[in-house]
This record gives sequence, C-alpha cells and structure tokens, in this order.
Amino acid sequence: MSKSSSTTNGASPHDVDVAIVGAGFGGMYLLHRARELGLSARIIEAGSGVGGTWYWNRYPGARCDVESMEYSYQFSHELEQEWHWTERYAAQPEILTYANHVADRFDLRRDIQFDTRVTAARFNEDAGSWSVFTDDGATLTAAHCVLATGCLSSTNTPDFKGLESFAGATYHTGQWPHEGVDFTGLKVGIIGTGSSAIQSIPLIAEQAAHLTVFQRTPNFAVPAHNGPLDPEYERYFKANYAKMRAIEKTTRNGTLYIVNEQSALDATAEERESIYQEKWEVGGLGFMASFNDLLVDKQANETAGEFIAGKIRNIVDDPTVAKLLTPKSVVGCKRLCVDTDYYKTYNRPNVSLVDVSETAIEEITPGGLTTGGREFEFDAIVFATGFDAMTGSINKIKIRGRNDALLSDKWAAGPRAYLGIATAGFPNLFMVTGPGSPSVLTNMMTSIEHHVEWISDCIAYARAQGATTVEATSEAEESWVGRVNELAGRTLYPTCNSWYLGANVPGKPRVFMPYLGNPDYLAKTADVAAKGYEGFALT
Ligand code: NAP
Repeated sequence: MSKSSSTTNGASPHDVDVAIVGAGFGGMYLLHRARELGLSARIIEAGSGVGGTWYWNRYPGARCDVESMEYSYQFSHELEQEWHWTERYAAQPEILTYANHVADRFDLRRDIQFDTRVTAARFNEDAGSWSVFTDDGATLTAAHCVLATGCLSSTNTPDFKGLESFAGATYHTGQWPHEGVDFTGLKVGIIGTGSSAIQSIPLIAEQAAHLTVFQRTPNFAVPAHNGPLDPEYERYFKANYAKMRAIEKTTRNGTLYIVNEQSALDATAEERESIYQEKWEVGGLGFMASFNDLLVDKQANETAGEFIAGKIRNIVDDPTVAKLLTPKSVVGCKRLCVDTDYYKTYNRPNVSLVDVSETAIEEITPGGLTTGGREFEFDAIVFATGFDAMTGSINKIKIRGRNDALLSDKWAAGPRAYLGIATAGFPNLFMVTGPGSPSVLTNMMTSIEHHVEWISDCIAYARAQGATTVEATSEAEESWVGRVNELAGRTLYPTCNSWYLGANVPGKPRVFMPYLGNPDYLAKTADVAAKGYEGFALT
C-alpha cells in the first residue's frame, strides 16, 4: 500500500492518518469527514461494494424499519435536497442505490479497497500507531484505526448437526446471493422468526410450493403500512429538515416518535385501546411510544401485549396457529418487528408453522431436517437466524493493544468501552456505534453521523494538542460500563433472550450492550468533548 503524507503536520510515518474498517454508512462518512479535516484515510471493505448491512442483506422483503425521510445522512444539505425516496420505508435496493450515490457524489471510491477483509490489527507502542493486516497479506499503517464494522454484520448460523450433509441449497438472510433466489415450485424451510424472517416469509410463501417456518420464540410485529412516499410529506420534510433533525436529537430513539408521557396504567381500558389502535393504524415502531412505561413496567407492557395478541387472533384463521404466534414475552424486549402481511401469510394453504421451542431442531439431513421425531423434506433451507450482534465483527478481528493484549480476551466476559467509542488499553482505536452507545436502539443513521463527527473531532483535537495517542482511561470506562448496566437493569430489557444481551449466540456472555437514553447520551458526549475529552488520556 502506498505511503500518503499527512496534510496537517508534514510527512507522516504512516501510510494514512486514519485506517477505517468497513464501507457502510459509518465508514463512508468517516472517510469524507477525514478528508474535510485534512486527514488522509483509507477504507478496507470485505464486500465488493459500499453499503454495509444493505450490501449483504438482500433477502426478499428486506426493508428499513425507520422511515426513509429520516434514514439518510444530514451532513450535506444538497444531498438531503436532491435525493428522492420512493416509499415510506425504503427497500434494500433503494438504500443500496443511495449508498452508491453517496460514494460517487463525494468521490469516495478512490480511497476504498474492496474485496479485502481485515484479519488483525496491532498497536505499535513505540510509534503510537496501528498496523492493520488484511487477508491479501498486506499491511496498512495508520495513526488511528476506526472500526466502522456495523452492529449487525457478523451472521449467526447455529452449529446444527449434519448441516454440511444437506443436498439442497441453503441461504442466510444476512448473506443473500446478489442474483436473488427463485423459490418457485420448491419446498422451503425457514428457521427463525425475527425481523429478517418476518419480512421474507410473506414473499417466499408467494413463490414456494410449500414453506415451513420453524419458530423457537414468537416475536411481536406491527404493520408497516408501507406505500409510495406522499409527495406533500416529502416537500414538507425537505423544507423543514433542520427542524426535524433537531427533534430527533431530543427523542429516545433518534426518530420523530414522541413518547406519550402517560402511563399505560393511568389510562382507562378504552383510552388504551384507542391509543394502541391509532398507533397500529399509523404503523411502525411508533407503537412503542404509545405510553411512557412500556419498557419499564411489566403490567403496563402486558396491555400492549394483549392488544397485539388480539390482532393476531383476528388476522390468523387457525386459533392454534394464532396462539403459537403470540409471544409470551415483553413487547419490545426483543426488537419490535415491522411487517407487511406477516400474520396473514399463515392463512395460506402452502405455509405451515412448526414450534421448536420444546423440541429443538435435532439434525439437518441430506433431505431436510428432523425435529420432535418428525422428518421434513426440503429443496432449500433459509437461515433467518440473526447475527452475533454488536461485538461479533469486532471480536473476529485479532485486535492487539498495549502489551499485545487481545481485545477479544478483554471482552471475554462482555464488551467494555467508554461511551461505546473507545476501550482502555487500545489507544487511537475508535468504534462507530460500539457497545455501550445507543446505536441499535436509535435511528442508526443519526447515531452513525454523531459518532463519526465526534470521533473525527476527537482525532483533530488530539492532533492539534500535539498528542500522538488518545486513550480511554480504565476509570472512565469502568464507570461508563456500570452506567450502561444500571440503566438496562431499570428496564424490562433483561427479561428475555435478545441479541441486545448476546443471548441468541450460544456461549456469548449475557450483557446488555446498547446504552439506553439518546438525548442523555448526546449531552454526555458533548460535555466530554467540551471538557477536553474528559475520561481520555492524551499523551
Ligand atoms: P434475530 O432477531 O436474532 O432472529 C433470529 C431468529 O432465529 C430468532 O427467531 C431465533 O429464535 C431464531 N434462531 C436462532 N437460532 C436458532 C436455533 N438454533 N433454532 C431455532 N431458531 C433459532 O435476527 P434477524 O431477524 O436477522 O434480526 C436481527 C436484527 O436486525 C433485528 O432485530 C433488527 O434490529 C435488524 N433487522 C431489521 C430489519 C428491519 O425491519 N429493518 C430487518 C431485519 C433485521 P430465538 O428468538 O428463540 O433466539
């Protein structure tokens, strides 16, 4: 890799100032921002194109559950104004087109190395820099290394016995073939009933001769009511973008959903029904904003659960199937799913639901799979089995910090990071939407942009101070991790086996990873910066 010079203080001893892992929305904006700050930067990306999660997740029905007008960059007024979304919720191909448009518009590709996976990174204590090792045998050296690796990018395929023996085709929703899959006339099995399954099941069912869904835990889903984007709404939004973005900064999840500041238990049964019904008719994740205590009070949450259970009973013809599809857990404990015709799909004669909660999938066989003493035959099996979320992609890279310590060893009992941005013992290493930041509980685009700006400002500040290293202190990290846990402990989030807790991956430590409280987090990070990056040692 060629040496590039640092534009801030003359010739650099490193290849680049900033090495970036991943060309999703985080990596792309960081590259742009680094250039604006006069820093040289290079992205290493495993895929052949930009877009991150939207590059890989090409399964039928893949669509964002944040409304399209909100799911976009805000750093460029021109970009905001020129881009046109066609639907209320953008589908994967359109979001990928947007990512490519951004890459072209800001001339990003010349500093992105595609088809290359970062396998390891090592902090060089003497030089105060990083060596980033890639699967093509090359090494990139950089003063700073930023992991823009995404929260849901390392796929989880359970280690089913006999997996390799299956004679038909297998697919994971998170690594879908680019050319698409035609299931016409095929007997298809799908394992999992999370967001990816809930989006893809209705479309696979339309093609397949028969679709069998294997469900371990049912999930709550609310309708998306997707449709063409209302031109009037688009005009209004574009005229008021700054105002809308400012509102997003004040809300719990960085979207325009304003929580009704009323307890579900203070409302009468009729009021509750009417509020839930109103949210149901609007559709989307705003359902969780119906009342202010849905994620902290079990009894309050049960009222939401009962409402959705009633909807499932109304939609699904077979009462046994409806019962099986109704979760017993807390609404929103696992991320609420946003669907199009999911429950209705179970009324189709070519769709069946198999409960594997009591009798696990025993074995994948050459012809299909076995569970509960029954054998199922398939031409294709779809794994909608999710991700090793938030830490998976980071831990897969052998990252060595001070004293050659491995980050995955440090995180063996769960991730530890100050502000979800940096981790003690690993100077000049930053994470975009890392564990301990609001990330997945917010509109990811707004959280990504916030982190990119914060991280690049921090790097610029350290360089202006003449500091070669910037490192989270153990004390600041300890206190932050304590705060993340304490906040989660006050809610109902720890009551189910969600990927927020790492509970979906066998053997992963059970630790609630995201930070709860977006406005509070924005204030804290601004304060840390204003105090000269309090909690960081600049040397
Ligand atoms: P997920 O929510 O983790 O769902 C994985 C599913 O696979 C679960 O139903 C899980 O059951 C099941 N599973 C895993 N291992 C299994 C096993 N050994 N046997 C049987 N079933 C097994 O993953 P996802 O659906 O890919 O979604 C992950 C996240 O990605 C979402 O929560 C969301 O944040 C994001 N996403 C968003 C959208 C969107 O709407 N925009 C779409 C897709 C994904 P258990 O629940 O019992 O573990």
